Amino acid sequence: MACTTEDVVAALRRCAEVISEHRDELVELDREIGDADHGENLNRGFAAVVSAVDSTMPETPGAALKLAATTLISKVGGAAGPLYGTAFLRAATTVGDAAELDAPMVAKVLRAAMDGVVARGKAEQGDKTMVDALHPAVLAAESATEVPVGELLKAAATAASEGAAATVPLVARKGRASYLGERSAGHLDPGARSTELLLGAFAGGQR
Ligand code: ADP
Ligand code: MG
Ligand code: MG
Repeated sequence: MACTTEDVVAALRRCAEVISEHRDELVELDREIGDADHGENLNRGFAAVVSAVDSTMPETPGAALKLAATTLISKVGGAAGPLYGTAFLRAATTVGDAAELDAPMVAKVLRAAMDGVVARGKAEQGDKTMVDALHPAVLAAESATEVPVGELLKAAATAASEGAAATVPLVARKGRASYLGERSAGHLDPGARSTELLLGAFAGGQR
């Protein structure tokens, strides 16, 4: 029921697959309210994460998460690289050298990942960023600590989807989209969408 190193590595591979499948969609979303590079940025980053886990074979969930963090920080530019890198780094620090992660730990990991994004980017809920997908996911995870990890992750992913969809009417107050002011309303935030996709990848195939 718990989440092992193999589960985390498999989830990272699914992240790379899902991001690759949605690369063009993320590029188009970012074209509407940004600079059209979000899909390319993340695709390059997660492809590098897969190469890194292939060559290093991390021995703990924390080592796998840390490898993802350092790879994303070094390979992905722009806003999203450092933000997702920080999220994975905080996640890695939170799990420490645990061999398996149970549901309460996964909820803590998600909270720490979001706190890292907020510490780095200073966005609040409603600013039309990835935080709008992460925040409801954390709350859903924190109310699902009595169920198996797979169920917790599914609840978090569903909440992230709803949070991402709710960014459409918002006016962006952080990041590149904020330069558009009111004209940013009526578009899905690309980072909220990628957070939804990544949490969906973590939830998919998890026991
Ligand atoms: P850039 O805007 O530098 O080209 P990306 O296109 O890769 O970077 O990422 C854009 C996404 O990053 C946005 O859609 C938003 O979700 C997220 N983002 C931007 N700034 C912040 C911030 N300060 N806090 C949280 N998320 C942010
Ligand atoms: Mg961009
Ligand atoms: Mg850019």
